[in-house]
Amino acid sequence: MSVLEKINSEELIALESQYGAHNYHPLPVVLSRGEGVYVWDVDGKKYYDFLSAYSAVNQGHCHPKIINALITQAQTLTLTSRAFFNDKLGKYEQFITDLFGFDKVLPMNTGAEAVETAIKICRKWAYESKGIDEHEAVIVVCENNFHGRTTTIISFSNDANARKNFGPFSDGFAAIPYDDVQSLQLLLENNKNIAGFLVEPIQGEAGVYVPSEGFIAKAKELCKKHNVLFIADEVQTGIARTGSLLAVCGDCTCESKCEQQNTYTRPDILILGKAVSGGVYPVSAVLADDSIMHVIKPGQHGSTFGGNPLAAAVATAALEVIADEHLAQNARRLGKLFRLKMNEYIQNSTIVSLVRGKGLLNAIVINDTEQSSTAWNICLKLAENGLLAKPTHGNIIRFAPPLIMTEEQLLDCVSIIISTLQEFEK
Ligand code: PLP
Repeated sequence: MSVLEKINSEELIALESQYGAHNYHPLPVVLSRGEGVYVWDVDGKKYYDFLSAYSAVNQGHCHPKIINALITQAQTLTLTSRAFFNDKLGKYEQFITDLFGFDKVLPMNTGAEAVETAIKICRKWAYESKGIDEHEAVIVVCENNFHGRTTTIISFSNDANARKNFGPFSDGFAAIPYDDVQSLQLLLENNKNIAGFLVEPIQGEAGVYVPSEGFIAKAKELCKKHNVLFIADEVQTGIARTGSLLAVCGDCTCESKCEQQNTYTRPDILILGKAVSGGVYPVSAVLADDSIMHVIKPGQHGSTFGGNPLAAAVATAALEVIADEHLAQNARRLGKLFRLKMNEYIQNSTIVSLVRGKGLLNAIVINDTEQSSTAWNICLKLAENGLLAKPTHGNIIRFAPPLIMTEEQLLDCVSIIISTLQEFEK
C-alpha cells in the first residue's frame, strides 16, 4: 500500500493499533481537520469539539493569528538551541512575565516538564535559600492530583493505574486530601522540611473538582507563614479556561496580571502549558520572581527545544488572542449558562446526578458506578450526534469546549448533550 493512498477510518485506527503503543484508549473517531470550535473526521462528518485537546485548544482550532505566527516564524528560524541567543525569546519572556506579573520565566515544552522544573526549582530554593538539609526537602501535594506522567510526578500520584510497575518511586512528597486546609496546616506546623505546596486550583483530570471558596487563598497564607513556596499548576486551568486568565485570579476577568484584584492569590511559582500555544505547538512555562528563580544557574536545567523562536512566536500570538477576544469573559458567561441549562435538565434526570465546574471547565457525573461503561457509551452516542467529549474517571464526563464558542453554538451543544442523555434515561 502506498503511504499516499487514501484509507478509511477503520484502516487508520488499525494502523495506530498495530504500530502505536497502546497508551491511550481513544473514541473511535479519526479527525483530519479543525477550525474554530469544530473538527471534521476523515469521512467529512462535522463535530463540536467539547474537549479542546484537554484544554489546550482554548483559542479554537487553527486560529488564523496563531497559525500566521507559526508559518512566518517557521519560514524564518525554528530552533537554535539555547547555546545561542535568538531574536524572539527575550521579547516573549518580557511579554509573558509582564502578562502574569513575575520577574522571570523558564521556558519548557510540555506540562509535565514544567511541573518537573517547578519541583527542581523548589527543592534547590529549599536547600540554598530556606536552609533545609540536603535531600530532606518535602513537597506537599494533594490526593487525586494529576500533574503529568514522568517517573517523579507519578511518584506522588495515587492513581494505581498510573503507577503500577513503574517503581521505584521518588521520595520527598507528602499528600493531603484536596481542599483540606487543616491537614495542610498540621503538616506545615509539624515538619520543618517542607519546601513547597504543589496544587491544581481546580482538579481537572480527577473529574473537575472545584475546591471550597477560600481554600486557595488560605493555603497560600499558610505557605507564606511557614516560608513554603505555593506552587500553582495551571496547566489545565490557566489561560482563561475557568473564566479568568488564571484560576488563581478568582473572580477577575481582566485578562492580564491581577495583582491589584483582591480575589487574586499570587503563586510563588506558576506552571503553565497547553493553551499557552493554543494547541499549535508544545509550549510550557514556569514563572517565578528573581528571589526564587536565581537558584537556577547555567548547566543546571534546560531542554533543547525549550525557548525556541518558533515556540516564542506561537505563544506570544496565542496569549494575545486571549485578551484580543476577551476569552476569559466569554468562558465565564458561557460557563454559567452551561451549568444553568444542565442543572435545569438534571432536576428531572435519573442518568445525571450533577454538573460542576468553573468557566468552561465542567463535568457531569453519571449516575452509575465508576466501573460501568455508561459514560463511555454516552460519549460514543454524543459523537454520533456530532459532539466530542470523553470520560475522565469512569462515570465522569468532562466538558471543555474552545473558549471562542458563541452563545448560539453553546445552546446547540446543550441541546445535543440533553437529547443524547435522554436516550439513556431509564
Ligand atoms: N498538569 C496538569 C494540571 C494537567 O492537567 C496536565 C495534563 O493534563 C499536566 C500537568 C501534564 O501536561 P502534559 O500532558 O503537557 O505533560
